[in-house]
Amino acid sequence: MRTVLREDHEAFRVQVRRFVEREIAPHHLEWEDAGRVPLSLWQAAGQAGLLCTTLPDPYGGGGDFGHAAVIIEELARVNATGVGFSLHSEVVAPYLNAYGSDWQKQRWLLAMVQGQTVGAIAMTEPDVGSDLKAIRTRAERDGEHYVLTGQKTYISNGLNAGLVIVVAKTDPEMGAKGISLLVVEDGMPGFERGRALRKIGLRGQDTAELFFDQVRVPVSHLLGEENQGFRYLMHQLAQERLVIAVRAAASIEAFLERTIAWTRERKVFGQSVFDYQNTRFKLAEAKAKSVMLRTFVDDCLARHLRGELDAERAAMAKLNASEMQNQLLDELLQMHGGTGFMADGGIGSAWVDARVARIYGGSNEIMKEIVARGL
Ligand SMILES: Cc1cc2nc3c(=O)[nH]c(=O)nc-3n(C[C@H](O)[C@H](O)[C@H](O)COP(=O)(O)OP(=O)(O)OC[C@H]3O[C@@H](n4cnc5c(N)ncnc54)[C@H](O)[C@@H]3O)c2cc1C
Repeated sequence: MRTVLREDHEAFRVQVRRFVEREIAPHHLEWEDAGRVPLSLWQAAGQAGLLCTTLPDPYGGGGDFGHAAVIIEELARVNATGVGFSLHSEVVAPYLNAYGSDWQKQRWLLAMVQGQTVGAIAMTEPDVGSDLKAIRTRAERDGEHYVLTGQKTYISNGLNAGLVIVVAKTDPEMGAKGISLLVVEDGMPGFERGRALRKIGLRGQDTAELFFDQVRVPVSHLLGEENQGFRYLMHQLAQERLVIAVRAAASIEAFLERTIAWTRERKVFGQSVFDYQNTRFKLAEAKAKSVMLRTFVDDCLARHLRGELDAERAAMAKLNASEMQNQLLDELLQMHGGTGFMADGGIGSAWVDARVARIYGGSNEIMKEIVARGL
């Protein structure tokens, strides 16, 4: 029994599951072939109250991170990895809410809650990922504008995004202390998107390159204070890491359940696959690890709900959850035989999609650095 989620969270789960089963699961393979999810899904999700649930009134649903966790878990249950709601709601919107002016919140948050505008955040560049302070994208002040020039890559929601929080250097001499966050809107002259990047997994997710060629961004689009961007990023990244951990824990549970059912049904040499001791032992190990992970992730969730989740613990959660997800999904796939290798939205797709969890949101080597600093 989980204790971290309240009755209102579980009631919300019923509503979310219904939406996912009706609006998402039947179409996901189609979206994987198209390389993106249609904007109409975002609008439907907005209408159903599934976007930016953690934002306070009057912008959002006035919920908390428990509601966000329910959405992440329900999407993970059917491996709907093309749907970038959590990045939009739990990563991008919180920056606007935490550091945005009233004018900025009015302009962007309402549209994000309704699914009229999709959000993205652009940190990574072709030559810089982990070492964020080394970015080259430059924003030079020119009167009431910043002139933004640079290139970003691997940007989730990159094609669908109506707004992008761009991480840029406003004072290149100052390293991490010279970084700012600017909001670039769709249609600004000089802002171009590349093709949808072809990936081994997350095939329904529109991951893209973004180009900024002397984009004139009004000073009113600066988020928070100039040169404080790195500090803001470090503060918000804990929640992004918790999102990855919550997704991994739910993915393991869902596919463990499905594997138990499948192995019970599948007969080889006159008995079900489940009846072989090897299968039961592997499933037992997976169950034991999954329960242990759930206990830790829920503890992180509880701490986060109390505003007490620190960067180190969030890094531990992301590290453990993503490593365990990769290891266990691989073993569960093996029990499926050839069926496991099919790209039909089942265990095979979940296994491929899980690989990136060890890379993005800060790679697992960076998570170890964060944990090691506190030793
Ligand atoms: C599908 C996908 C979606 C993404 N979405 C976004 C997005 O929306 N926005 C965004 O800004 N970025 C996004 N990213 C980028 C992602 O965050 C980076 O890929 C990640 O941070 C790693 O950076 P990198 O690829 O440049 O690898 P590098 O930094 O070049 O690292 C290469 C290798 O070196 C290791 N390494 C680096 N530093 C150290 C160290 N100090 N000690 C030991 N090993 C180290 C890394 O762990 C890695 O194994 C996405 C990436 C993918 C694949």
